Amino acid sequence: MPACPPYLRPLLALFASRGERAYPVGGCVRDSLMGIPPHDWDVAVTTLPETTVALCESAGYRTIPTGIKHGTITVLVPHSGDPADREGSYDLIECTTCRTEGSYTDGRHPDAVSFTGRIADDLSRRDFTVNAMAFDVDPAAEGNDLAVLDLFGGQNDLRDGVIRAVGDPDTRFTEDALRLMRAVRFAVKLGFSIEENTRSAIVRCADGLARISRERISEEFQRILVSSHPEAGVKMLDELGLLPYVLLDGISPCGMGRLSALPADFALRMACLQWGVEEEALRRNLQGLRLSNAVRKDVLALAESHSLSGEPTPQNARRWRHELGEVALRGVLLRLARGEDGEGFCGLADLIRASEEKREPVCLADLAIGGNDLLDLGFKPGKELRKALEGLLALVLEHPEKNISAELIARAKMWKE
Ligand code: ATP
Ligand code: MG
Repeated sequence: MPACPPYLRPLLALFASRGERAYPVGGCVRDSLMGIPPHDWDVAVTTLPETTVALCESAGYRTIPTGIKHGTITVLVPHSGDPADREGSYDLIECTTCRTEGSYTDGRHPDAVSFTGRIADDLSRRDFTVNAMAFDVDPAAEGNDLAVLDLFGGQNDLRDGVIRAVGDPDTRFTEDALRLMRAVRFAVKLGFSIEENTRSAIVRCADGLARISRERISEEFQRILVSSHPEAGVKMLDELGLLPYVLLDGISPCGMGRLSALPADFALRMACLQWGVEEEALRRNLQGLRLSNAVRKDVLALAESHSLSGEPTPQNARRWRHELGEVALRGVLLRLARGEDGEGFCGLADLIRASEEKREPVCLADLAIGGNDLLDLGFKPGKELRKALEGLLALVLEHPEKNISAELIARAKMWKE
Protein backbone atom coordinates (compact mmCIF):
# COMPACT_ATOMS: atom_id res chain seq x y z
CA MET A 1 0.00 0.00 0.00
CA PRO A 2 1.41 3.41 -0.91
CA ALA A 3 2.17 5.89 1.82
CA CYS A 4 1.69 9.61 2.10
CA PRO A 5 4.92 11.36 3.20
CA PRO A 6 4.74 12.05 6.97
CA TYR A 7 5.70 15.72 6.55
CA LEU A 8 2.57 16.25 4.43
CA ARG A 9 0.20 14.98 7.12
CA PRO A 10 0.14 18.14 9.29
CA LEU A 11 -0.91 20.12 6.20
CA LEU A 12 -3.75 17.68 5.41
CA ALA A 13 -4.76 17.63 9.08
CA LEU A 14 -4.86 21.43 9.16
CA PHE A 15 -7.56 21.51 6.47
CA ALA A 16 -9.54 18.73 8.18
CA SER A 17 -9.41 20.60 11.52
CA ARG A 18 -11.38 23.45 9.89
CA GLY A 19 -13.97 21.19 8.30
CA GLU A 20 -12.22 21.50 4.92
CA ARG A 21 -10.33 18.84 2.95
CA ALA A 22 -6.99 18.51 1.19
CA TYR A 23 -6.41 15.56 -1.16
CA PRO A 24 -3.13 14.49 -2.79
CA VAL A 25 -4.15 14.22 -6.44
CA GLY A 26 -3.04 13.41 -10.00
CA GLY A 27 0.47 12.19 -10.82
CA CYS A 28 1.48 11.49 -7.21
CA VAL A 29 -1.46 9.10 -6.77
CA ARG A 30 -0.79 7.38 -10.09
CA ASP A 31 2.91 6.96 -9.36
CA SER A 32 2.37 5.79 -5.75
CA LEU A 33 -0.10 3.15 -6.90
CA MET A 34 2.46 1.94 -9.41
CA GLY A 35 5.15 1.78 -6.73
CA ILE A 36 7.11 4.66 -8.28
CA PRO A 37 8.19 7.40 -5.82
CA PRO A 38 6.33 10.56 -6.95
CA HIS A 39 8.61 13.48 -7.83
CA ASP A 40 6.11 15.96 -6.45
CA TRP A 41 2.87 15.96 -4.50
CA ASP A 42 0.01 18.09 -5.77
CA VAL A 43 -2.88 18.71 -3.44
CA ALA A 44 -6.51 19.60 -4.29
CA VAL A 45 -8.18 21.66 -1.56
CA THR A 46 -11.80 22.55 -0.88
CA THR A 47 -11.00 26.12 0.25
CA LEU A 48 -11.00 29.21 -1.95
CA PRO A 49 -7.49 30.48 -2.75
CA GLU A 50 -7.56 33.39 -0.27
CA THR A 51 -8.69 30.99 2.47
CA THR A 52 -5.94 28.53 1.53
CA VAL A 53 -3.38 31.31 2.09
CA ALA A 54 -4.93 32.48 5.35
CA LEU A 55 -5.29 28.97 6.72
CA CYS A 56 -1.75 27.89 5.87
CA GLU A 57 -0.18 31.12 7.14
CA SER A 58 -2.14 30.93 10.39
CA ALA A 59 -0.47 27.58 11.04
CA GLY A 60 3.00 29.02 10.31
CA TYR A 61 3.49 27.83 6.71
CA ARG A 62 4.97 30.20 4.16
CA THR A 63 2.97 30.51 0.93
CA ILE A 64 3.51 31.88 -2.57
CA PRO A 65 0.46 32.88 -4.66
CA THR A 66 1.85 31.23 -7.82
CA GLY A 67 -1.38 30.91 -9.78
CA ILE A 68 -3.99 32.48 -7.57
CA LYS A 69 -6.29 33.17 -10.55
CA HIS A 70 -6.48 29.44 -11.23
CA GLY A 71 -6.65 28.64 -7.53
CA THR A 72 -3.04 27.55 -7.04
CA ILE A 73 -1.04 28.47 -3.94
CA THR A 74 2.43 27.03 -3.41
CA VAL A 75 2.99 26.08 0.21
CA LEU A 76 6.50 25.57 1.62
CA VAL A 77 6.13 22.37 3.62
CA PRO A 78 9.17 21.63 5.86
CA HIS A 79 10.41 18.05 5.83
CA SER A 80 10.57 18.18 9.63
CA GLY A 81 6.75 18.36 9.69
CA ASP A 82 6.84 21.60 11.72
CA PRO A 83 5.05 24.29 9.63
CA ALA A 84 7.07 27.06 11.33
CA ASP A 85 10.48 25.45 10.67
CA ARG A 86 12.60 28.01 8.81
CA GLU A 87 15.93 26.19 8.98
CA GLY A 88 15.54 22.76 7.43
CA SER A 89 14.72 21.55 3.92
CA TYR A 90 11.18 21.72 2.55
CA ASP A 91 9.00 20.72 -0.40
CA LEU A 92 7.06 23.12 -2.59
CA ILE A 93 3.51 21.77 -2.55
CA GLU A 94 0.96 23.18 -4.97
CA CYS A 95 -2.43 23.42 -3.30
CA THR A 96 -5.14 24.09 -5.88
CA THR A 97 -8.80 24.79 -5.20
CA CYS A 98 -11.09 22.04 -6.55
CA ARG A 99 -12.53 23.47 -9.74
CA THR A 100 -14.41 22.82 -12.93
CA GLU A 101 -13.39 24.35 -16.20
CA GLY A 102 -15.98 26.10 -18.36
CA SER A 103 -16.15 25.82 -22.13
CA TYR A 104 -13.03 25.87 -24.26
CA THR A 105 -13.78 28.08 -27.23
CA ASP A 106 -10.15 28.32 -28.37
CA GLY A 107 -9.25 24.62 -28.07
CA ARG A 108 -6.44 25.50 -25.66
CA HIS A 109 -7.62 27.16 -22.46
CA PRO A 110 -10.87 27.14 -20.50
CA ASP A 111 -12.82 30.39 -20.89
CA ALA A 112 -13.25 30.50 -17.12
CA VAL A 113 -12.65 28.25 -14.13
CA SER A 114 -15.15 27.94 -11.31
CA PHE A 115 -14.07 27.00 -7.84
CA THR A 116 -16.65 24.52 -6.65
CA GLY A 117 -14.69 23.03 -3.78
CA ARG A 118 -15.85 19.53 -4.81
CA ILE A 119 -13.19 16.90 -5.42
CA ALA A 120 -15.49 15.02 -7.83
CA ASP A 121 -15.56 18.10 -10.09
CA ASP A 122 -11.82 18.41 -9.89
CA LEU A 123 -11.27 14.78 -10.86
CA SER A 124 -13.62 15.01 -13.83
CA ARG A 125 -11.74 17.93 -15.41
CA ARG A 126 -8.54 15.86 -15.53
CA ASP A 127 -7.29 14.30 -18.76
CA PHE A 128 -6.87 10.53 -18.30
CA THR A 129 -8.36 8.08 -15.83
CA VAL A 130 -4.93 7.18 -14.41
CA ASN A 131 -4.33 10.90 -13.74
CA ALA A 132 -7.78 11.47 -12.24
CA MET A 133 -7.48 9.88 -8.81
CA ALA A 134 -7.00 11.38 -5.37
CA PHE A 135 -5.95 10.04 -1.99
CA ASP A 136 -8.42 10.51 0.81
CA VAL A 137 -6.10 10.55 3.82
CA ASP A 138 -7.57 10.13 7.28
CA PRO A 139 -5.51 12.69 9.20
CA ALA A 140 -6.41 11.15 12.56
CA ALA A 141 -5.06 7.70 11.71
CA GLU A 142 -1.40 6.73 11.47
CA GLY A 143 0.18 4.56 8.76
CA ASN A 144 -1.76 2.85 5.99
CA ASP A 145 -4.94 4.85 6.05
CA LEU A 146 -5.26 5.92 2.44
CA ALA A 147 -8.48 5.47 0.53
CA VAL A 148 -8.27 6.00 -3.22
CA LEU A 149 -10.93 8.25 -4.74
CA ASP A 150 -11.31 6.72 -8.15
CA LEU A 151 -14.46 7.78 -10.01
CA PHE A 152 -13.43 6.76 -13.52
CA GLY A 153 -11.81 3.35 -13.16
CA GLY A 154 -8.25 4.65 -12.98
CA GLN A 155 -7.05 1.74 -10.86
CA ASN A 156 -8.37 -0.79 -13.39
CA ASP A 157 -6.68 1.09 -16.21
CA LEU A 158 -3.44 1.22 -14.24
CA ARG A 159 -3.61 -2.52 -13.77
CA ASP A 160 -4.43 -3.10 -17.47
CA GLY A 161 -1.82 -0.62 -18.67
CA VAL A 162 -4.27 1.62 -20.52
CA ILE A 163 -4.49 5.36 -21.19
CA ARG A 164 -8.17 6.31 -21.41
CA ALA A 165 -9.69 9.78 -21.57
CA VAL A 166 -11.97 10.85 -18.72
CA GLY A 167 -15.45 11.25 -20.24
CA ASP A 168 -16.08 11.57 -23.97
CA PRO A 169 -12.68 11.54 -25.68
CA ASP A 170 -13.70 13.67 -28.67
CA THR A 171 -14.99 16.38 -26.34
CA ARG A 172 -11.90 16.26 -24.15
CA PHE A 173 -9.46 16.49 -27.08
CA THR A 174 -11.49 19.27 -28.69
CA GLU A 175 -11.44 21.22 -25.43
CA ASP A 176 -7.66 21.09 -25.16
CA ALA A 177 -5.67 19.61 -28.04
CA LEU A 178 -2.47 19.44 -26.00
CA ARG A 179 -4.05 16.33 -24.44
CA LEU A 180 -3.36 14.56 -27.77
CA MET A 181 0.36 14.88 -27.13
CA ARG A 182 -0.09 14.13 -23.44
CA ALA A 183 -1.80 10.82 -24.26
CA VAL A 184 1.29 9.71 -26.16
CA ARG A 185 3.62 11.07 -23.49
CA PHE A 186 1.92 9.11 -20.70
CA ALA A 187 1.57 5.95 -22.83
CA VAL A 188 5.31 6.07 -23.49
CA LYS A 189 6.33 7.06 -19.98
CA LEU A 190 4.29 4.30 -18.35
CA GLY A 191 4.73 1.71 -21.13
CA PHE A 192 0.90 1.65 -21.62
CA SER A 193 -1.27 1.35 -24.70
CA ILE A 194 -3.97 3.85 -25.65
CA GLU A 195 -7.51 2.54 -25.24
CA GLU A 196 -9.35 2.05 -28.56
CA ASN A 197 -12.00 4.82 -28.30
CA THR A 198 -9.43 7.28 -26.98
CA ARG A 199 -7.14 6.28 -29.80
CA SER A 200 -9.66 6.78 -32.58
CA ALA A 201 -10.66 10.14 -31.09
CA ILE A 202 -7.00 11.22 -31.20
CA VAL A 203 -6.88 10.41 -34.92
CA ARG A 204 -10.11 12.38 -35.51
CA CYS A 205 -8.96 15.37 -33.47
CA ALA A 206 -5.31 15.50 -34.64
CA ASP A 207 -5.71 18.80 -36.47
CA GLY A 208 -6.51 20.49 -33.16
CA LEU A 209 -2.76 20.60 -32.60
CA ALA A 210 -2.58 23.38 -35.18
CA ARG A 211 -4.09 25.66 -32.50
CA ILE A 212 -1.56 24.74 -29.82
CA SER A 213 1.59 26.82 -29.42
CA ARG A 214 4.76 25.38 -30.92
CA GLU A 215 6.48 25.66 -27.55
CA ARG A 216 3.96 23.46 -25.75
CA ILE A 217 4.01 20.84 -28.50
CA SER A 218 7.79 20.91 -28.42
CA GLU A 219 7.91 20.42 -24.66
CA GLU A 220 5.75 17.29 -24.88
CA PHE A 221 7.76 15.98 -27.83
CA GLN A 222 11.04 16.51 -25.97
CA ARG A 223 9.71 14.51 -23.04
CA ILE A 224 8.63 11.72 -25.39
CA LEU A 225 12.02 11.62 -27.08
CA VAL A 226 14.02 11.42 -23.84
CA SER A 227 11.67 8.80 -22.33
CA SER A 228 12.64 5.16 -22.01
CA HIS A 229 10.55 4.19 -25.06
CA PRO A 230 11.40 6.88 -27.64
CA GLU A 231 10.86 4.62 -30.66
CA ALA A 232 7.40 3.60 -29.51
CA GLY A 233 6.62 7.29 -28.91
CA VAL A 234 7.64 8.47 -32.37
CA LYS A 235 5.87 5.51 -33.97
CA MET A 236 2.71 6.30 -32.01
CA LEU A 237 2.86 9.99 -33.01
CA ASP A 238 3.20 8.84 -36.61
CA GLU A 239 0.37 6.28 -36.52
CA LEU A 240 -1.99 8.69 -34.79
CA GLY A 241 -1.33 11.40 -37.38
CA LEU A 242 0.27 13.79 -34.88
CA LEU A 243 3.81 13.76 -36.24
CA PRO A 244 3.22 16.35 -39.02
CA TYR A 245 2.28 18.85 -36.28
CA VAL A 246 5.52 18.12 -34.43
CA LEU A 247 8.16 17.83 -37.16
CA LEU A 248 6.90 20.14 -39.86
CA ASP A 249 9.26 18.72 -42.47
CA GLY A 250 9.16 15.01 -41.67
CA ILE A 251 11.56 12.45 -40.24
CA SER A 252 14.02 9.97 -41.58
CA PRO A 253 12.59 6.46 -41.23
CA CYS A 254 16.11 5.02 -40.97
CA GLY A 255 16.81 7.05 -37.83
CA MET A 256 13.87 5.63 -35.94
CA GLY A 257 15.09 2.21 -34.92
CA ARG A 258 18.19 3.31 -33.02
CA LEU A 259 16.88 5.83 -30.56
CA SER A 260 16.83 3.77 -27.39
CA ALA A 261 20.41 2.62 -27.96
CA LEU A 262 21.36 6.21 -27.09
CA PRO A 263 21.43 8.00 -23.73
CA ALA A 264 18.34 10.08 -22.93
CA ASP A 265 19.77 13.24 -24.43
CA PHE A 266 17.45 15.29 -26.60
CA ALA A 267 20.04 16.70 -29.04
CA LEU A 268 21.55 13.27 -29.58
CA ARG A 269 18.27 11.46 -30.14
CA MET A 270 16.95 14.24 -32.33
CA ALA A 271 20.06 14.05 -34.53
CA CYS A 272 19.60 10.29 -34.73
CA LEU A 273 15.93 10.63 -35.63
CA GLN A 274 16.81 13.13 -38.33
CA TRP A 275 19.77 11.17 -39.67
CA GLY A 276 19.94 11.65 -43.43
CA VAL A 277 17.33 14.43 -43.55
CA GLU A 278 18.45 17.30 -45.75
CA GLU A 279 19.94 20.19 -43.85
CA GLU A 280 17.23 22.63 -44.96
CA ALA A 281 14.45 20.32 -43.77
CA LEU A 282 16.27 19.67 -40.52
CA ARG A 283 16.63 23.40 -39.91
CA ARG A 284 12.91 23.90 -40.51
CA ASN A 285 12.07 21.08 -38.10
CA LEU A 286 14.31 22.56 -35.42
CA GLN A 287 12.89 26.02 -36.01
CA GLY A 288 9.37 24.58 -35.68
CA LEU A 289 10.30 23.13 -32.28
CA ARG A 290 11.42 26.56 -31.02
CA LEU A 291 14.57 25.09 -29.51
CA SER A 292 17.22 27.26 -27.91
CA ASN A 293 20.11 28.27 -30.15
CA ALA A 294 22.47 26.09 -28.14
CA VAL A 295 20.39 22.93 -28.57
CA ARG A 296 19.79 23.73 -32.24
CA LYS A 297 23.52 24.13 -32.80
CA ASP A 298 24.24 20.80 -31.09
CA VAL A 299 21.67 18.92 -33.19
CA LEU A 300 22.99 20.43 -36.43
CA ALA A 301 26.61 19.62 -35.54
CA LEU A 302 25.67 16.06 -34.58
CA ALA A 303 23.57 15.56 -37.70
CA GLU A 304 26.49 16.64 -39.87
CA SER A 305 29.04 14.47 -38.12
CA HIS A 306 28.23 11.51 -40.38
CA SER A 307 30.83 12.75 -42.84
CA LEU A 308 33.69 12.69 -40.27
CA SER A 309 36.16 9.82 -40.41
CA GLY A 310 36.15 7.36 -37.51
CA GLU A 311 39.92 6.85 -37.62
CA PRO A 312 41.20 6.54 -34.02
CA THR A 313 44.17 8.92 -34.18
CA PRO A 314 44.96 11.94 -31.97
CA GLN A 315 44.71 14.27 -34.99
CA ASN A 316 41.28 12.95 -35.87
CA ALA A 317 40.16 13.29 -32.23
CA ARG A 318 41.09 16.98 -32.38
CA ARG A 319 39.26 17.32 -35.69
CA TRP A 320 36.10 15.89 -34.09
CA ARG A 321 36.42 18.33 -31.22
CA HIS A 322 36.95 21.13 -33.73
CA GLU A 323 33.84 20.20 -35.73
CA LEU A 324 31.55 19.21 -32.85
CA GLY A 325 32.81 21.18 -29.84
CA GLU A 326 31.28 19.94 -26.62
CA VAL A 327 29.18 17.29 -28.33
CA ALA A 328 32.16 15.41 -29.84
CA LEU A 329 31.74 12.40 -27.56
CA ARG A 330 28.02 12.32 -28.21
CA GLY A 331 28.85 12.26 -31.93
CA VAL A 332 30.80 9.05 -31.35
CA LEU A 333 27.79 7.52 -29.56
CA LEU A 334 25.64 8.38 -32.54
CA ARG A 335 27.96 6.55 -34.92
CA LEU A 336 28.12 3.55 -32.57
CA ALA A 337 24.33 3.46 -32.37
CA ARG A 338 24.26 3.34 -36.15
CA GLY A 339 26.24 0.13 -35.97
CA GLU A 340 29.61 1.43 -37.14
CA ASP A 341 32.93 -0.15 -36.16
CA GLY A 342 32.75 -0.45 -32.37
CA GLU A 343 36.45 -0.89 -31.69
CA GLY A 344 37.61 2.04 -33.80
CA PHE A 345 35.01 4.41 -32.36
CA CYS A 346 35.74 3.35 -28.77
CA GLY A 347 39.41 4.15 -29.40
CA LEU A 348 38.42 7.49 -30.90
CA ALA A 349 36.26 8.26 -27.84
CA ASP A 350 39.24 7.65 -25.53
CA LEU A 351 41.39 9.96 -27.64
CA ILE A 352 38.72 12.70 -27.63
CA ARG A 353 38.45 12.47 -23.85
CA ALA A 354 42.25 12.65 -23.50
CA SER A 355 42.37 15.68 -25.80
CA GLU A 356 39.66 17.40 -23.75
CA GLU A 357 41.54 16.69 -20.54
CA LYS A 358 44.77 18.12 -21.99
CA ARG A 359 42.75 21.11 -23.23
CA GLU A 360 44.33 20.87 -26.64
CA PRO A 361 43.53 23.84 -28.88
CA VAL A 362 40.69 23.10 -31.32
CA CYS A 363 39.11 26.48 -32.13
CA LEU A 364 40.19 30.06 -32.86
CA ALA A 365 39.56 31.12 -29.27
CA ASP A 366 42.09 28.50 -28.09
CA LEU A 367 44.96 29.99 -30.16
CA ALA A 368 47.85 31.43 -28.14
CA ILE A 369 47.64 34.64 -30.17
CA GLY A 370 44.65 36.69 -31.31
CA GLY A 371 43.58 38.84 -34.23
CA ASN A 372 45.22 41.95 -32.75
CA ASP A 373 48.64 40.30 -32.75
CA LEU A 374 48.27 39.65 -36.46
CA LEU A 375 47.06 43.21 -37.14
CA ASP A 376 50.24 44.41 -35.41
CA LEU A 377 52.22 42.30 -37.87
CA GLY A 378 50.53 44.14 -40.75
CA PHE A 379 47.75 41.72 -41.68
CA LYS A 380 44.73 43.48 -43.16
CA PRO A 381 41.43 43.13 -41.32
CA GLY A 382 38.86 40.94 -43.06
CA LYS A 383 39.68 38.14 -45.42
CA GLU A 384 43.47 38.25 -45.00
CA LEU A 385 43.28 38.19 -41.23
CA ARG A 386 40.73 35.39 -41.19
CA LYS A 387 42.79 33.30 -43.59
CA ALA A 388 45.88 33.70 -41.39
CA LEU A 389 44.03 32.74 -38.21
CA GLU A 390 42.54 29.71 -39.91
CA GLY A 391 46.02 28.74 -41.15
CA LEU A 392 47.34 28.91 -37.58
CA LEU A 393 44.44 26.84 -36.31
CA ALA A 394 45.09 24.20 -38.97
CA LEU A 395 48.71 24.12 -37.79
CA VAL A 396 47.89 23.61 -34.09
CA LEU A 397 45.20 21.04 -34.90
CA GLU A 398 48.04 18.99 -36.43
CA HIS A 399 50.67 20.01 -33.83
CA PRO A 400 49.12 21.20 -30.58
CA GLU A 401 52.59 21.63 -29.06
CA LYS A 402 53.11 24.56 -31.46
CA ASN A 403 50.38 26.63 -29.79
CA ILE A 404 52.89 29.05 -28.26
CA SER A 405 52.71 32.73 -28.98
CA ALA A 406 56.36 33.06 -30.25
CA GLU A 407 55.95 30.05 -32.50
CA LEU A 408 52.71 31.31 -34.05
CA ILE A 409 54.03 34.83 -34.55
CA ALA A 410 57.12 33.45 -36.28
CA ARG A 411 54.91 31.37 -38.54
CA ALA A 412 52.65 34.33 -39.37
CA LYS A 413 55.66 36.55 -40.13
CA MET A 414 56.84 33.94 -42.59
CA TRP A 415 53.50 34.12 -44.39
CA LYS A 416 53.62 37.90 -44.47
CA GLU A 417 57.05 38.00 -46.11
P1 ATP B 1 4.52 13.97 -14.43
O1 ATP B 1 5.07 13.04 -13.42
O2 ATP B 1 4.95 13.62 -15.81
O3 ATP B 1 4.67 15.43 -14.10
P2 ATP B 1 1.77 14.48 -13.86
O4 ATP B 1 0.58 13.58 -13.80
O5 ATP B 1 2.16 15.21 -12.63
O6 ATP B 1 2.97 13.63 -14.43
P3 ATP B 1 1.42 17.05 -15.07
O7 ATP B 1 1.54 17.45 -16.50
O8 ATP B 1 2.39 17.63 -14.11
O9 ATP B 1 1.48 15.48 -15.05
O10 ATP B 1 -0.07 17.39 -14.62
C1 ATP B 1 -0.54 17.17 -13.31
C2 ATP B 1 -1.97 16.68 -13.34
O11 ATP B 1 -2.83 17.71 -13.81
C3 ATP B 1 -2.22 15.48 -14.27
O12 ATP B 1 -2.03 14.26 -13.59
C4 ATP B 1 -3.67 15.69 -14.69
O13 ATP B 1 -4.53 15.18 -13.72
C5 ATP B 1 -3.83 17.20 -14.68
N1 ATP B 1 -3.59 17.83 -16.01
C6 ATP B 1 -2.47 18.45 -16.44
N2 ATP B 1 -2.62 18.95 -17.66
C7 ATP B 1 -3.86 18.67 -18.04
C8 ATP B 1 -4.65 18.94 -19.21
N3 ATP B 1 -4.11 19.58 -20.26
N4 ATP B 1 -5.92 18.53 -19.22
C9 ATP B 1 -6.47 17.88 -18.17
N5 ATP B 1 -5.79 17.58 -17.04
C10 ATP B 1 -4.51 17.97 -16.98
MG1 MG C 1 3.69 16.82 -12.60
